[in-house]
Amino acid sequence: MPVSGRRKSIAFFITLGACLVALAIALNVGWILLNWREVALLVFGIIFFLLIIVGLVLNTTFLIREIRRNEQHDAFINAVTHELKTPLASIRLYLQTLKSRDITEDQQQKFYDIMLADNDRLLQTVEQVLRAGRSGHRRRRINPTIIDLGEMVRECVDLTRVRYNLSPESVSFVEALNSDRPRVAADADELRAAISNLLDNAVKYSIDNVSVSVEVAALDPKRVAVRIADKGIGIPAAQLKRIFKRFYRVPGRVMARIKGTGLGLFIVSSVVAKHGGRVFAESAGLGQGSTFTIQLPRA
Ligand code: ADP
Repeated sequence: MPVSGRRKSIAFFITLGACLVALAIALNVGWILLNWREVALLVFGIIFFLLIIVGLVLNTTFLIREIRRNEQHDAFINAVTHELKTPLASIRLYLQTLKSRDITEDQQQKFYDIMLADNDRLLQTVEQVLRAGRSGHRRRRINPTIIDLGEMVRECVDLTRVRYNLSPESVSFVEALNSDRPRVAADADELRAAISNLLDNAVKYSIDNVSVSVEVAALDPKRVAVRIADKGIGIPAAQLKRIFKRFYRVPGRVMARIKGTGLGLFIVSSVVAKHGGRVFAESAGLGQGSTFTIQLPRA
């Protein structure tokens, strides 16, 4: 269903709900005025009408939520299809060129590198979808080992610099710790994926002005935090909690240009919750950059 069609159906259900509630109240008041002597029936009637009103409100809320969910599923399928199709089309094009023309050794090497990068992108998308599926299983146990969080974040920062070809100043890293190393009991693979997702987002949503600062800090003797701050497009206050929901992407024209599936932050919040920690986002608003913080219990 197109976006304008959905908006209309949401508006229709809200209007329908409001009209039905108004009608129920009017009936109730009319009934009271006509039958004010029959007190017992009156009380019964009031309860009955209240139930109808609650039912109507619940029904409308449910319908709106279902419509929104459908909308997000559609957007997700479009995004994933795009993320799968683009690198596949690119690989095909390079293979055809390699097959049909005489190409120098140098150019061949360049083509192989591009195809490998496209292949990595495909794998990354598939891995993200699989991980989101796994994260959805609440009861799935983690496989914890003792990890030095500072070391792990440093590795992820290095990988991000290499992957996006960034200078050390563009993604800075500091450790603000007391004497103890920040050790946590965690599933290394899952935690690495969560931190990398936050770093990828910080770079991706900075567009051209990548200035990301990453900090690992001791909060208190029991908790340690990873803070990732960027100077990118920022997040409106009303969206700060919703962005952690599965498939959710902030609407808007700038956002539509930046590709994504809406799974990254869902994976982050599921992983962090499984480790007994919490994650939250802060932003002064659009264009003001964002800061994401993960807090984890120390091992
Ligand atoms: P995706 O990036 O694939 O859309 P995520 O779950 O990683 O999905 O993020 C959900 C939404 O949160 C994004 O669509 C984006 O609107 C917003 N978001 C996440 N990280 C940032 C950031 N660093 N700066 C601004 N917006 C962000």
